[in-house]
Order: sequence, then C-alpha cells, then structure tokens
Amino acid sequence: MSFKNANEIDEGESLDYDVCIIGSGAAGIAVAKEFSESNISVIMLEAGGIDFEDELQTDYTYNAVNGREGEWDFTRTRQWGGTTSVWYGRCTKLKPIDYEKRDWVPNSGWPIGPAEVEKFNGRALTTLQVSHQHAIDSAYWQKSETVNAFNSNDIDANVFLWSNPKDMAVAHHKSLGNSKSVTLCYYAFAQQVVPTENDDHIDSVLVKSANGKQFSIRAKHVVIAGGSIENCRLLLLSQKNSPHGVGNQHDNVGRYYMDHPRIEGMAKLMVNFENKNWPSLIRHLDETITDAGNMQVFLSLSEQLQRKEKLLNHGTVFRSIFKEQIASGYLAAKNLYYSVKGKDGNGIDYRDVANMLKGLPKLAQTSLKQALGKPLTFSHLILIDQLEQEPDRASRICLDSEKDRFGQQKTCIEWEIGQSTTDSLRWFHTALDKRLREINLGWVDSPMITDRDYVPEFTDACHPSGTTRMSSDPKTGVVDANCKVHGIDNLYIAGSSVFPTVGYANPTLTLVALGIRLADKIKSNLMVDSTPAAVDSSPAIIEERV
Ligand SMILES: Cc1cc2nc3c(=O)[nH]c(=O)nc-3n(C[C@H](O)[C@H](O)[C@H](O)COP(=O)(O)OP(=O)(O)OC[C@H]3O[C@@H](n4cnc5c(N)ncnc54)[C@H](O)[C@@H]3O)c2cc1C
Repeated sequence: MSFKNANEIDEGESLDYDVCIIGSGAAGIAVAKEFSESNISVIMLEAGGIDFEDELQTDYTYNAVNGREGEWDFTRTRQWGGTTSVWYGRCTKLKPIDYEKRDWVPNSGWPIGPAEVEKFNGRALTTLQVSHQHAIDSAYWQKSETVNAFNSNDIDANVFLWSNPKDMAVAHHKSLGNSKSVTLCYYAFAQQVVPTENDDHIDSVLVKSANGKQFSIRAKHVVIAGGSIENCRLLLLSQKNSPHGVGNQHDNVGRYYMDHPRIEGMAKLMVNFENKNWPSLIRHLDETITDAGNMQVFLSLSEQLQRKEKLLNHGTVFRSIFKEQIASGYLAAKNLYYSVKGKDGNGIDYRDVANMLKGLPKLAQTSLKQALGKPLTFSHLILIDQLEQEPDRASRICLDSEKDRFGQQKTCIEWEIGQSTTDSLRWFHTALDKRLREINLGWVDSPMITDRDYVPEFTDACHPSGTTRMSSDPKTGVVDANCKVHGIDNLYIAGSSVFPTVGYANPTLTLVALGIRLADKIKSNLMVDSTPAAVDSSPAIIEERV
C-alpha cells in the first residue's frame, strides 16, 4: 500500500481511481483488503493522520438534544484504523431472530437473512484475526459447565471471542502494505459526494486536506465507510443538487439512529457459596483464557421468551468483583471517575469520596497483591447489560448550526430509547434470577426486580447504528440489500449505519462481513466494466506500525 499525505496534494488537483473508500476503520479496511491483490486501483481517504492527533479529533464534537447524553466525541476515533485503535475487540454474531420482521418491533426486518451474512462471517473472522473461528458457535462450548447451567427455556448462553491484534491498522499494515493497488490518503477529509445533474451517479468526491487545500477524487465506485454518525453526515452535507443531501429523497438519512443502551453495575449476581460447584458454574461468565483463545459467555433472553412476551433482544456480560476491591475503595474510586466524567448523569456522590479515602491503605495492599499475582477473594459478579432498542424515526442525527474548522456543519444527535427496552431489561433480570434459583446457584440483586417503577439510567455502548438503514423499499431505507444507495448506481455504504435493527451483539463482526460482501459485488461489477484505471505508482511504504 502506498501512503499519500493529502497536505502534499495540489489545490484543485483531480485524481482518478477505480474505487474510492471514505474512511479507514473496520469497515473501510474490510472493503480495501479485498482489493489488495487485484489490479483494481483503490484510494482510502482518512480524515485523521497515521496516529492519533487531538486537534483532528475535535472535529467530532456534536450537540446532543433531548437531554440524553452519550459520549459521541470519543466513542469514535479519527485516525488510520479508525475506532479499532481503541475498541475492546469482542466479536459475536447477530442471532437469526435479529434479522426477522417481528410484528411486535416496529420497523424491524432485514432484506437479507442470517444465511446470507453467514457466508461472509468466516472471512470476516479472518480479517478481524480471531483465532479458532469454529469456537464462535455455541455448539463448540457444550462442555462448558457455565453454558450448560444457564441454557434453559428463558435464557440463552452465547460466547464472545476476541480479535487479536485489535487495532486493524496494526493487523493489516503488512498485508495491505504489500499491496500495489491500495493507497491510503491520510489528512484527507471527504466533504461532499458530488452527484451528476440527474442525481443517479456520483461524479466525484470533494476532499479537504488538513492544511485546507481542496482536491477531488473521481472514481467508478464510491464507498462511504466513515462510521454511522459520519456516514449520514456526509450524505446530508452533499447538497449540490438538493438541500436535503444525497440519497435522502424520503427523509431517511440520519433517522432510526440506534446504539445499545447499556447499564453497568446496577444489578449483581450473588452466588450461593453453599453450592460447591459454584466456581465451575460461573467460570466462563468472566473473560477466560481457553485453548480456543480468550472467551466470555454472555447471557441473553431466549428466542422463545422474546416471542412469547414480545420482548427486544438483550445480552449481559459479567465482571467479577473481589472482596479486597470493595474494602479498598476501588469501586468508590471508579464510581467517582464516572460521575466526574458525567457518564452516569448522577453527579458526584460524596459517599464515594469518603469511601475512597477510607480505603486508601487497603487499595495499596490490593494493588500489591495483584502485582504479586496473589489470588483475590471473589465476592460477586456485576451485570453489564447491553440491550436492543427499537428502530424509531424520531431517534436521529441531523446537521447542527455549529461548524467545524472547514465550515462544514457538525452533527446534532437526538437519541430516543423506547419503553420496550426497559421492559425487556426487567424481564431479563427476572428470568436470570429464576434460573439461578432453579439451579441453586444464587440470585440477582436488582432494583428492576424489587421496584416496578425503577427507571434505569442508560448510556450508549459506542455502537452507533441505523442511520443509513438497509431496506428493499427506498421509502423506508437509504441503501438496498447490496448496501448500494437507492437511486444512485455507484454509491455504497459500509458500516453498522446500514443495520435495520441491532439485536444485542456488538456490531463489528457483522459490519466487516457486510463490507467483504460489498467488496465482492463491486469487484464483480468492475470485472464486467471497462479496463481498470492505472494503478498508483508512488512507492509503497510498508514499515511496521506497532
Ligand atoms: C471503547 C470502545 C469499545 C468498543 N468495543 C467493541 C467491541 O468489543 N466489539 C465490537 O464489535 N465493537 C466495539 N466497538 C465499536 C467498534 O469500534 C465499531 O463498531 C467499529 O470501529 C466501526 O467501524 P467503522 O469503520 O464503521 O467506523 P470507525 O472505526 O469509526 O472508522 C471510521 C473512519 O472513517 C474516518 N472518517 C470519518 N468521516 C470521514 C470523512 N468525511 N472523510 C474521511 N475519513 C472519514 C474516521 O476518521 C475513521 O478513521 C467499540 C467502540 C469503542 C469506542
């Protein structure tokens, strides 16, 4: 791969490629990698630099309306590799029910089914460098006592595996580095996709370099892969032919914005220590190193219970809490950290300050114990709930009056979460509590069970989705089943912005699978097209980035 610094491109220059990919995160790399051994010329535009730069990240600031706050400026990263430079790397699949049109979930239903995505999951796992791919399926874990203990009528036990190395820029620096066909153009902020007069083809992409020079890319195919918030922003900003932007004839761009409403530590899984099998029964609930790599079981509402009670999907992971941590004020310090950051929205609780100060001597002792590899004493597990939310037109991203350094409008985020998310959370805690008692393993300590009126305080899970949703009907979506923008013959979207619904699964495995599928489609289009444009001849830089 050759690297081009956009700051060195001349003002007004126009460059020709077969494929232009906007964004070099998980989605952009998934698409680009598929062309790396071809003679198809590909340019990947990246607004950020090769490494993280504070100043460029500030372009991600936004305004939230409706009082609901996420952390959307640093839930995504502007640099080569995108947000994979900071993500946790957990991979799992959407469940078959997530693709269905469920009569109790308005606007649900994908135009493609799980079998179509499954065809690409193997290649996606390879791209994400997940070893032991077969272990992603729960059938592999039938020997796990944890999986067997929890699988029941109301609860499903599933697994996460980890991508390793997590940073896709690091993982693919070499494989893309050897490619003669792919160019990474950094400090290159795509400002608009420019349609032809009759609006059915993208003629060029207008780009600004970090030092303010404007140039354009002309490509046979254009893929927008800037992350869910920027994907819709770019379409809305592309106003050459219409003040509503590109692909927005039915006012769908930016709408149906979803994340995974998340809540950490509100509920506890308390263990009945009289059950002598408790260590093996809960063993895989926290991250575990196994022969198949690091894995973690997470528990979800069974498909059967979702159908019966008309619930949304729901997944929960767990984290062990140790007695030494409680005594040491570690948890108080953590609560304090989140309230100072405003993440839980409750302000500073001065009891946390007092507990933290009280626990300082113990904290030193616990840290020493951990550093020496001495075992800590298990107390309980906390639940980290990650929920599905309904796709709702009123939940949306639009353009704000505030502008970025290039005079482009920033985003305004209105995140709506319906009541059915809270109802499904209450069902899950109740069903888990029932199962724990059935197997004599413990119980769930949750305000959702003890107080019917309890209102949980959700944060986002850094999984923005849905803003350019997939639908076979242009009236209800932005892209078609092939991720092509309706009505435009050469403009595509890669990323979780195309998801019509989100289930509870972390999105990256599925968005990478869809990116690979899209690359295959574009490749086959180009094969029947005329001869590809000339391959970039600037020298390849393949130095290692670690
Ligand atoms: C802390 C954290 C933990 C996470 N953990 C997990 C996890 O465990 N599992 C999981 O599945 N997901 C996780 N995620 C989410 C995951 O990171 C995203 O799903 C994934 O990175 C999305 O890939 P993307 O390519 O669509 O967007 P990004 O990775 O955000 O990449 C988009 C790229 O496009 C560039 N760009 C944007 N607009 C433009 C423009 N106009 N011109 C040029 N370039 C542009 C950006 O600079 C960026 O580099 C996590 C996220 C965070 C923040």
